[in-house]
Amino acid sequence: MQSHKTRVRFAPSPTGLLHVGNARTALYNWLFARHTGGDFLLRIEDTDLERSEARHEAQLMEDLSWLGLGWDEGPDVGGQYGPYRQSDRLDIYARHTEQLLNEGKAYRCFCTPEEIEAERRRAAELHQPQVYSGKCSRISPADSLARASAGESFAVRLRIPERPLRFHDLVRGEVEFTSESVSDPVLVRSSGVPVYNYVVTVDDALMQITHVIRGDDHLSNTPKQVAIYEAFGWPVPVFAHLSTILGSDRERLSKRHGATSIASFREMGVLPEALVNYLALLGWGAEDGKTETFTPEELTRVFKLERVTASPAVFDWDKLHWLNRH
Ligand code: GLU
Repeated sequence: MQSHKTRVRFAPSPTGLLHVGNARTALYNWLFARHTGGDFLLRIEDTDLERSEARHEAQLMEDLSWLGLGWDEGPDVGGQYGPYRQSDRLDIYARHTEQLLNEGKAYRCFCTPEEIEAERRRAAELHQPQVYSGKCSRISPADSLARASAGESFAVRLRIPERPLRFHDLVRGEVEFTSESVSDPVLVRSSGVPVYNYVVTVDDALMQITHVIRGDDHLSNTPKQVAIYEAFGWPVPVFAHLSTILGSDRERLSKRHGATSIASFREMGVLPEALVNYLALLGWGAEDGKTETFTPEELTRVFKLERVTASPAVFDWDKLHWLNRH
């Protein structure tokens, strides 16, 4: 049975330092869980083995702990909760891929990268959407199995329904994508590595995540994830895509704007309470219009997802320094 408790997760990829944007995502998830009496989970998304590093994972966890953002469950590691780690869950994804293939919801795609590229070029010349044609979806199940058994390499693609994919976003309202803009997404690459959209959906469903709160850079991934929920017949969670954080020049906040990693703030002597206070105000406002200092306890009491703003927040050093002195 689906639990009615709120369950959220922070799902970083351990490919670098924790920066302002992701730290805010972690904080909003944590505050929402605390405000609603729910659970906050930490899931390390490390299926990209080449870019994932144990030292980044360790640093991420240290930064979260420093900010006071503890997680509520996970595998037992020396009497403490460790994070869930996608690299430990590959057999789960493989089992689910088998299920989708057996049910005809997904199919093996034998197209080579050259064939896909040629299709894309042709579509571009004809000014058509540059999406996969779905050629391999027409191979019969018996032929598909025979080719796979003969050792031909294949990716696994989801059959996308021919209708718009819709979802409700707490920050953006109703969002709709046409099926042509999504095409049949790859779930598992021909190397055997499952892709982000697939594993994130399997995990969110199996971990009974009720609200997916993350950066709006994932907005265009969401229809693919919705199609995966539908293929399995799983309930679709509520989504909340947080606006981008900009620098003072209104360009997306990046290294160009100076140090923005949590580790660097720490080295500069920024206090965790001040940083939490600052991050909370970066795209959210309290109902009573109070705009300045909040303790984590106060934030937990007043934080409502509905009050997250859709317009981009601008990172303001002076305000962070001001909060650090108060
Ligand atoms: N690993 C993804 C990221 O770091 C997670 C996105 C999500 O929350 O679904 O961007």
